[in-house]
Order: sequence, then structure tokens, then C-alpha cells
Amino acid sequence: MPIFQFVPPSNLPDFILYIWHCMGKESPSIPDLRFFLSFRAKLMSPSKAQELIENALHDRLIVNKNNILQLSDTLQTRQVGQEQAEKERIQQTLVQQARKEKVLTTKTFNDYFREILPEEYKSKTFLIKLKDIQLNVPDPASEQVRGTIITEGKSIEVTIDGKRKILSHSCDFLTSQYQSARKFCPHLGAIFRSLQKNFPDLALCLLQSMVEEKTKWQYS
Ligand SMILES: [Zn+2]
Repeated sequence: MPIFQFVPPSNLPDFILYIWHCMGKESPSIPDLRFFLSFRAKLMSPSKAQELIENALHDRLIVNKNNILQLSDTLQTRQVGQEQAEKERIQQTLVQQARKEKVLTTKTFNDYFREILPEEYKSKTFLIKLKDIQLNVPDPASEQVRGTIITEGKSIEVTIDGKRKILSHSCDFLTSQYQSARKFCPHLGAIFRSLQKNFPDLALCLLQSMVEEKTKWQYS
């Protein structure tokens, strides 16, 4: 079964344009064109080819100047229009393709969150209630976050400086191993859940940087 089947245009003007493209010759003679249609392209018998050429001449789709055939002005304009439309269509396809690829490669907050939060801290993170978290973000553009978690009568502090890429927090969960791997403890996870709820753009921006540029971040 053929992968690709092409049927030449059925209307005479488009058929002539199609033949001109296939021939790759700007100025054929009548015998050249007849030969092409019947022998090279095997589209019709020589008598049918002759008939088609006469019809095209009669309809002034092609003109015969000193035994050289040329596309009429009308068909030349149509050819330019078709080429332009085709170029635009290709351009649009490329833009759509690029857009699709961008969507596929754009990660969400949840993608980064899954990457940075160790599996073993997942449930502990979600046990911390959002109402127990206080966020202090004076100006999201400065990327400064101070978070406080009040849990079991204790106050746990987290400070983040997104511009200088410094994170200050210490607890037993944030072992030296996790610190050097720039992973989260349940407190950091909870702070980011709250940040995502209140300042989603800042939350994504910080988390993206903490995953994609993790070696630039300093945990202290
Ligand atoms: Zn912690």
C-alpha cells in the first residue's frame, strides 16, 4: 500500500501550474510539454496531451510566443499567490510545532516540588497545616520570604533570599546529606505549599531556580 498518494489537481488552471512546477522548465515548446505529459509524467496519451495544451492556449492559461510556451499573467499571479500561501502555511506549522514543544518542556510547580521533596518527607509535609504557617513576603519582586511554622508549641523559622540564593533553616530532617543535595525537609515543603497558595508566581520562580540551579544555592 503506498504511503503517499497524490492526485494532480482536476481543474485546468491548477493542473497547468502543477505541471509547470513538475517540469522545472520555465519555457517549454509545445512538443516539450506534450512529451512531458505523456512520456515523462505518464499522465495521458500524446493525443490527450495535445488536446490539453490546445485547451489551455484557448483559455489563455498559457501563451505561445515564438513556439515557446509561457504561463499567462493571470496564472503567474496565481502561482505567486499559491507560493506565498504555502510559505505562510509552513511558517504557521513551524510556530505551532515550537509552541507544542514548549508546552511539553515547561515544568509546573508540582513537577519541581516532586523533584526537590524527598519521598520519605511527603506525608510529614502534608501533615503540617497551612493555618499554622505565617508568611512574610514584603515584596514578591525582591524574592525575600520569611516563613514561620508554629507547631507543637515550637516556632520554626525559614528565610529565603531568592536574589542571593540563600536559604536559612536548620532542623533534624535537613541532614547534611539533604543539605548538600539541596533537598527539602517537611518544613520547607510546607512553606512552599503555603507560598504556592499565596504567591504562585514567586513560588514557581524560586522552586525552579532551586531545582535547575541547585548548585548556586547556599543552605545555611
Ligand atoms: Zn526543617
